[in-house]
Amino acid sequence: MSDRKINLPLVSAGGAVFLDRDGVICEQAGYVNRPEDFVLIDGSAEAIARLNRAHVPVIVITNQGGIALGHLTEETLADIHTRMKRLLVEAGAHVDAVYYCPHHLQAEVPAYLLDCPCRKPGIGMLEKAHDELGINLQNSVLVGDATTDILAGIRAGCRTILVRTGLGGNDGKVIAEPEFTVSDLSAAVELILATEEQLNQISAAERRLNDIPK
Ligand SMILES: [Mg+2]
Ligand SMILES: [Zn+2]
Repeated sequence: MSDRKINLPLVSAGGAVFLDRDGVICEQAGYVNRPEDFVLIDGSAEAIARLNRAHVPVIVITNQGGIALGHLTEETLADIHTRMKRLLVEAGAHVDAVYYCPHHLQAEVPAYLLDCPCRKPGIGMLEKAHDELGINLQNSVLVGDATTDILAGIRAGCRTILVRTGLGGNDGKVIAEPEFTVSDLSAAVELILATEEQLNQISAAERRLNDIPK
């Protein structure tokens, strides 16, 4: 047993795992502006499949300000996400929902010019998952590669895990201290499921205590 307190499954009742997309699920090689730019990080699909098998909801939340900047359209983004879902299915994995924010303050496309509360570090996408899917944010964990991801998670009351893939927390945009830092999504899922296993052991022990005749 580690010296870490057991207080705490990273995901518990009604919670979900929120995943940033670029740098967590897929490689962040410049921008992902075309379906063929979307390349899975080694092990990320298998990690998501493990969460699926553990019946933990997986929700992608991704800033897509490139739409506002004119780098891609919402139609192309839909094609990219179709490719993402196909690649995940090939590994026996799926995501339960995808939220994106197409807005940006330096928008080239006027329709997307907005200081949007959904754009991380804003928490609009997390609140949407709460409102639309009934996700308990306090019982959720967010996995991201940018300080803006981590700050959004902290602001929304989620637990937070920074991965060293993608930007690896070196974007320098905001100050935000993740609760855990791990190498990649596989390691993050390992940590999440380990804490869930602890919870199961605790509740099994409690059940056994309750079974003892008084
Ligand atoms: Mg990212
Ligand atoms: Zn937005």
